[in-house]
Amino acid sequence: MSKPPRSPLLPLETALAQLLAALDGRQLRTEMCSTLQADGRVLAQQVVSALEVPPQDNSSMDGYALRCADVAPGRALPVSQRIPAGSQGAPLQAGTVARIFTGAPIPPGADAVVMQEDCQEVPGTNASSPAIQVQTQPQVGQWIRRRGEDVTLGSTVLQSGSRLGPAALGMAASVGLAQLQVACKPRVALFSTGDELVMPGTVAPQDMVPGSIYNSNRFFLAALLRRMGCEVTDLGIVPDRLDATVQALRDAAQVHDVVLTSGGVSVGEEDHIKPAVQQLGQLDLWQIAIKPGKPFAHGRVDAAHFIGLPGNPVSSFVTFLLLVRPFLLRMQGVQDVALPSQPMRADFDWPRADRRQEFLRVKRNAQGGLDLFPNQSSGVLTSVVWGDGLLDNPPGRTIARGDMVQCISLGDLLG
Ligand code: AMP
Ligand code: MG
Repeated sequence: MSKPPRSPLLPLETALAQLLAALDGRQLRTEMCSTLQADGRVLAQQVVSALEVPPQDNSSMDGYALRCADVAPGRALPVSQRIPAGSQGAPLQAGTVARIFTGAPIPPGADAVVMQEDCQEVPGTNASSPAIQVQTQPQVGQWIRRRGEDVTLGSTVLQSGSRLGPAALGMAASVGLAQLQVACKPRVALFSTGDELVMPGTVAPQDMVPGSIYNSNRFFLAALLRRMGCEVTDLGIVPDRLDATVQALRDAAQVHDVVLTSGGVSVGEEDHIKPAVQQLGQLDLWQIAIKPGKPFAHGRVDAAHFIGLPGNPVSSFVTFLLLVRPFLLRMQGVQDVALPSQPMRADFDWPRADRRQEFLRVKRNAQGGLDLFPNQSSGVLTSVVWGDGLLDNPPGRTIARGDMVQCISLGDLLG
């Protein structure tokens, strides 16, 4: 009997487009969040400034505010006022200077600041009113930070759909916002399948029975989910029985947006995830043309999305970054979820072409090129710990030392 033809592999792009299409028409859930707590959240409003930043011309130095035209070699200029940051100066009297400090408003009439290092104190007309001599001729505008040079009134300083980082939080605060409207965190239930799995902490390494391995996927998947701004419910290892799997899935789907599992999505595998999801909802099993990776499942259980990742740790890690990451970001309203990659030089040979798109674990070296981790097996998590990038190698392509390749920085994906 001839073997059934192998189903064609799905290109990554197609798989991603189909996965993201499952979010079309979905209503974005939003909430207000303290700006102080909003790092990593996705903004669900435009931030428009209701003021100018800085609000007034101010000094960028400790020194003296003056009119340039008053400065002449050897001329002593009396200090007529003192303006610390937080106070407002009076109009500057002609022929005098104002002692001024960084951040203090420039008094009306002054057109430059001279830093104190360029001035010499000289006796004034009396002991209580000092004077200064300016040692170099100032330029109009020097050491003055102009009103609105950072932000102008009415300008959009942060875009809806952008992911907030430390600088964005500072910007929101600088235009006076203590609260921001953000996307709600996706609620994700995570569980692992596989009778070989043992939770670290429950059995000591020397007591592990042959055939058992520690559940590593749970740890990096929970961490990856949190980095993507999710609220994670860790359901641990679900017992390898259909009734237990159905129960876990059904319960998780009631109160989560996504149910994420790892393991048991290989073709022909005797596992309970597939029948359980099919019993409760609908399931698509994909063979994606990527390496590591390949098996990937997407479906629905009631209102929740189901995503099944392969069990091999590197496959699980990489498919998360390639597919689940953009899915979770889009769920929070991020439009641009493309993988950020840069051209880099390969400092190694990769002579065996693969029919799948490969994501090789690489690391940038001191010469600005890429080194390859010697073992690219999908079970070798050491490659991901060692590496700082994924080299995106198109199907059928070999690499010769010195070739330019596309590399995705892991730092860019994990941020
Ligand atoms: P599976 O996708 O279930 O066929 O698993 C593929 C390989 O990944 C097997 O060698 C499993 O033992 C391993 N594996 C599955 N789940 C995990 C996990 N949570 N942690 C570590 N290895 C796993
Ligand atoms: Mg398994």
